Amino acid sequence: MSLQGNAGRLSPLESARPRGGARPRGDTPRAPRVGVLALQGDVREHLAALTACGAESLPVRRPEELEGLHGIVLPGGESTTIDKLSRAFELRDPLVKALTDGLPAYGSCAGMILLADEVLDGLPDQQTFGGLDITVRRNAFGRQVDSFETDVQLAGIGAMHAVFIRAPWVERLGPAVEVVGEVVVPGVGPRVVAVRQGPVLATAFHPEVTTDLRVHRHFLELVRQAA
Ligand code: GLN
Repeated sequence: MSLQGNAGRLSPLESARPRGGARPRGDTPRAPRVGVLALQGDVREHLAALTACGAESLPVRRPEELEGLHGIVLPGGESTTIDKLSRAFELRDPLVKALTDGLPAYGSCAGMILLADEVLDGLPDQQTFGGLDITVRRNAFGRQVDSFETDVQLAGIGAMHAVFIRAPWVERLGPAVEVVGEVVVPGVGPRVVAVRQGPVLATAFHPEVTTDLRVHRHFLELVRQAA
């Protein structure tokens, strides 16, 4: 099952966008400015989800587009491709610096891999941006099942229907990393699939391909707290 296939099958996010630019009641008057790394992957879906949550969202392809951001999203897609393109577009070093300087970040699936300090089952030359003191195993569910959907209980968010597509899981967590959610893998046991370290959040699944905006809202709360 491809990312494309799943995105097409689930309800599109477009209908959740606020009309006429009006922000829903209760949002802060000044919208946080959140970039989505736009080298490959489900960029459009994240931009739409952030906009629907009242953020000003913009694609980031060039180093100067990192300036003035309150947060950044690393999308689902293919971590090895995003890694290579980030080097080709000379985005890697400024992005690593921004993350090191404390820019709030949210990564879904490939984005989680890119935020991890260490990757197992990556390509030999695969690099990550880092920022999360975790070790992830790439394509970890592959031996069980390629892609699946299940309910996950997320700390601070609640129960959520989650879509996993060739997803990683977390095998090591540093002391500053909080477990946000886990799933029980048949024959394997519980595996961590959502984590937070300060203003950096990551999920092995893809809320951006559903109409549930709670993970993006939760991230925007972290962005506001860090501002
Ligand atoms: N397996 C992919 C990777 O290694 C991630 C898949 C996804 O983002 N859906 O990047």
